[in-house]
Amino acid sequence: MIYDVIVLGGGPGGYIAAERAGQAKLKTLLIEKRALGGTCLNEGCIPSKALLSSAKIYHNAGEYGAQYGVHFGGVSIDQPAVIQRKQKVVNTLVNGVAVSMKAAKVEVVNHVGKIKGRGAEGIEIEAGGEVYTAKNLIIATGSRPATPPIPGLEEGLKSKFVMTSREALELLEIPKRMVVIGGGVIGLELAAYYGTVGSEVSIVEMLPKIAGPTDEEISALLQKDYEAQGMKFYLNSRVVRIDAAGVVFEREGKEEKLVCDKVLCAIGRKPVIDSCGIDNLNILTR
Ligand SMILES: Cc1cc2nc3c(=O)[nH]c(=O)nc-3n(C[C@H](O)[C@H](O)[C@H](O)COP(=O)(O)OP(=O)(O)OC[C@H]3O[C@@H](n4cnc5c(N)ncnc54)[C@H](O)[C@@H]3O)c2cc1C
Repeated sequence: MIYDVIVLGGGPGGYIAAERAGQAKLKTLLIEKRALGGTCLNEGCIPSKALLSSAKIYHNAGEYGAQYGVHFGGVSIDQPAVIQRKQKVVNTLVNGVAVSMKAAKVEVVNHVGKIKGRGAEGIEIEAGGEVYTAKNLIIATGSRPATPPIPGLEEGLKSKFVMTSREALELLEIPKRMVVIGGGVIGLELAAYYGTVGSEVSIVEMLPKIAGPTDEEISALLQKDYEAQGMKFYLNSRVVRIDAAGVVFEREGKEEKLVCDKVLCAIGRKPVIDSCGIDNLNILTR
């Protein structure tokens, strides 16, 4: 089957491109291996904000209710219910993407897509045992959490002591003590959620400031605000290993250790281009 446009990856980059192509009356196919909506809808922007909304209600009810003359009785957090609500929000939005694909007459194939190379009529992509030909191909395969070669990290991920943002958005129990490796936006958002709902959160960051390239003034204000909520920051600190009990890091030439129940590794993301067959197109990727 020959298409005007094939989009590989159904995240915000891919599904919007597919929708626009479909609306422009181009014969369009969207190939997505997991769920429509990609990282953003399923394990990124949307679920993290859903969790933060629950945290905000919990915080306001507990901290400010009485000040405003509203008494809630015992305020508590029901983590499984938070996760269930988050999933409901995600499902609604993911279904919405499926509806927009239908409305734009975009065909959707739910399989891993692999670029085979250039054929006589276009670029050939294999998915679910079928070969599809694209006059134009949009590669929108997104990114995944980066897992650096820190000793103990792989073992920790296997035993579930260490999480990436993906697992941190699914936790059914609130850890008593959590160490977040990486003080960038993803680490901070999840630290904010777990810090608000009761975890003792420590953030280990290699740079002298948090929130990545954010202005120094803003990152200092943010840190102050988080510290007022009880979070601890270890800046200029490089994680050297993870063992079964916690995280060991180096600061000013000395090793220190934070004991915890869960570690969140949030040191950034890396592109998903290694497995989609991009090499078969001779495209320079780095
Ligand atoms: C915890 C968290 C919070 C975030 N919060 C925000 C926020 O508040 N605001 C914001 O702007 N951004 C936020 N982001 C970033 C945002 O999620 C990404 O920028 C966005 O999802 C990128 O869209 P994309 O389409 O490029 O890739 P993705 O959303 O990653 O989508 C790529 C899709 O391609 C699919 N795919 C990959 N390879 C193949 C293949 N071979 N075959 C078929 N399908 C394939 C994947 O399954 C995936 O569905 C957040 C990210 C995280 C992790």
